[in-house]
Amino acid sequence: MSFINRASRALHGYPASSKLLVLLTLSSGGIVAYADSQSETAAPTELNQNEFKKKRVVVLGTGWAGTSFLKDLDVSSYDVQLVSPRNYFAFTPLLPSVTCGTVEARSISEPVRNIIKKRNGEIQFYEAECVKIDAANNKVFCKSHFENNMIGSEDFSLEYDYLVVALGAQVNTFNTPGVMENCHFLKELEDAQKLRRSVIDCFEKASIPGLTEEERRTNLHFVVVGGGPTGVEFAAELHDFIQEDLVNIYPVVKDLVKITLIQSGDHILNMFDERISTFAEQKFQRDCIDVQTGCRVVCVSDKEITMKVKSKGEVTSIPHGLVVWSTGISTRPVVKDLMEQIGQANRRVLATNEWLRVKGCENVYALGDCATIDQRKIMDDIASIFKAADKDNSGTLTVQEFQDVVDDILVRYPQLEIYLKNKHLRDVKDLLKDPEGKDIKEVDIEGFKLALSQVDSQAKSLPATAQVAAQQGAYLSRCFNRREHCKDNPEGPQRFVGAGRHSFAPFRYKHLGQFAPLGGEQAAAELPGDWVSIGHSTQWLWYSVYASKQVSWRTRVLLVSDWTRRFIFGRDSSRI
Ligand code: FAD
Repeated sequence: MSFINRASRALHGYPASSKLLVLLTLSSGGIVAYADSQSETAAPTELNQNEFKKKRVVVLGTGWAGTSFLKDLDVSSYDVQLVSPRNYFAFTPLLPSVTCGTVEARSISEPVRNIIKKRNGEIQFYEAECVKIDAANNKVFCKSHFENNMIGSEDFSLEYDYLVVALGAQVNTFNTPGVMENCHFLKELEDAQKLRRSVIDCFEKASIPGLTEEERRTNLHFVVVGGGPTGVEFAAELHDFIQEDLVNIYPVVKDLVKITLIQSGDHILNMFDERISTFAEQKFQRDCIDVQTGCRVVCVSDKEITMKVKSKGEVTSIPHGLVVWSTGISTRPVVKDLMEQIGQANRRVLATNEWLRVKGCENVYALGDCATIDQRKIMDDIASIFKAADKDNSGTLTVQEFQDVVDDILVRYPQLEIYLKNKHLRDVKDLLKDPEGKDIKEVDIEGFKLALSQVDSQAKSLPATAQVAAQQGAYLSRCFNRREHCKDNPEGPQRFVGAGRHSFAPFRYKHLGQFAPLGGEQAAAELPGDWVSIGHSTQWLWYSVYASKQVSWRTRVLLVSDWTRRFIFGRDSSRI
C-alpha cells in the first residue's frame, strides 16, 4: 500500500478536533520533556554534610511502580539503591505493538541509567535479581546473571532502613499442563520480540514446498488464550499485520491464515463497558477472527490445544501453529517467600495498608502488581468512630456531630463515598434517616451501625494496571519526601482507633480511563465520568495519549517515527 493511500486512509473521516488533540498532546509532552532536560543539566549538589545520617532505601524493580517512585524522590534525604534484572523501563501498554513490528522494542524502553542520571548519580543501580527478602534482618539477597564468563562473585546483599517492593507479577498458567512449554506470553519486552520472530516463522514454515494444505493451515493457525485487553489487542494487531502487510508478501498462503481467540467468560473485554465488549465482538466477527467464548483450556501440546466447552461439557482439540497465553498474573516466588515470613502465606497477593506499608512489617512498602491494599472496614471501627463523633458522650449522635467527623471518615474509608454515589445520596446526612426516609435528629450506636452496615461491600481492590502502579509510586515518594515535616504537622485524617491524626492521607487512586485498541485504526476507551468512546477518533486519542505518556523525549520521537514509518512503508517482516 502506498504512503498516500495509507496516510489518506488514516486521516480520512477523522474530525479536525482529533488531529488538533494529537498536536496539542505532543507539544505538551514536549514542554514536560524540556523541563526534564533542564533538570538534567543542573549543577551537581554539594556532598551532603549529614550523609552518614541518610536513611538507606532499597528499591526492587524498574517497572512502572519503581521508576515512578524514584522520579520525584528527594535523594538528598535518602541513600537509594535500585535492584532489577532489567536495566531498562518498558512501556508495557505498547508491548502488543512490538509483536508485529508496528513499533520497535527500543522505542518503548528507556535505560534505567538514563532515568537515574537525572538525579545527579545519587541513585545506585545494580542489574541483579532479588532472590530473598529477609524482613526480620532488614536485608535483601541478590544474584546477578551475566552470560559472559566474567570474574567476581554474582551474589551480594544489601541492608536497608526502608524497602520498596515493586517487583510486579509473573504470568499465571493456572497450572494448565503444557502451557509453560508450548505457549508464548506477552508480559516482558523479550516476550514481544520472541513473538514477532515466531509469527514470521509460522509464515515462512507454511511457505516451504512439500507441505500439504492442511499442514500449511495448521502452521498459520494463531490461537490467543484470554479475552482481556492484552489478548484482544494482540489479536487485533496480528490481524492488521496479516491483512496490511503479510498477505502482500506471502500471496501463496494468504487464504490459509486463521486467528482464534479463546475466552473462558461469556464475553471478551468483560471488564469494560458492555458497549465496548459488544463492539469488539462484532468487529472481530467482521474481521473473521474466531471468538470462542465459554471455553476453558485444559492442556496445550506442541501441536494441539485442548479445551472444554462449558455449555456442552465437551472436550475438543484444535491444531495450532502458535499459541499466546494471556490469562492474568500471579505472585512471584520471592514475594511469596516474603509473605510466608510475615504471616501472609494464606493470601493471594502481598497485602499493604492504605499507606502502602506491608502489613506485618514496619519499614517495607509494596506497590504495583505485586501488592494489594487491604482496605480497612468501616464496620470494624464502628464503635470507635461513634465514640469519637459523640463529643458530649451522650450515647447518641446528632446530625451535626456526625457531620463534624464525616470528612475524616470519607478520607479514611473511601468506600463510603462510592456507597453514597451508588445510592445517589447527595449528602452524608441522608444516611441518618428513619426507615420511612424522614430526617432524624439523633441516632444511637445500633442505628449508626445499621446506617453504615452496607458501606463495606463497596470496597474494591484496585486493578493491576500501569496507572495504579505509577500513581502509587508518585504517592509513596511524596510521603517519603514529607516524612519529617508530617511527623510534626500531620496531614492525614483523624485516627478513630488511637489518638491524634495520621501523618499522611491514605493513597487514593484516580482513574483516568482505559483504552482497548481494536485494530483497523479503531479503538475503544472508557473515560472518566462513565464516558465511552469508540471508533477512529478514539484511535487518534490513543496515539496522542500514549505519545504524551512516554518517559523521555527520545522514546517519544522514536515512537512517533515508528508510527510514521509504518504508515509509509508498512511493517518490517524480517526475522531479526
Ligand atoms: P512491572 O512494570 O512488571 O515491573 C516489575 C519490575 O520488577 C521489573 O523491572 C522487573 O524486571 C523487576 N523484577 C522482577 N523480578 C525481580 C526480582 N526478583 N528482583 C528485582 N527486580 C525484579 N496497564 C495499563 O494501565 N494500561 C495498559 O494499557 C496496559 N497494557 C498492558 C499490556 C501488556 C502486554 C501488559 C503485560 C501489561 C499491561 N498493563 C497495562 C499492565 C501494566 O503493565 C502493569 O500493571 C504494570 O507494569 C505494573 O507495574 P509494576 O511496577 O508493578 O510491575
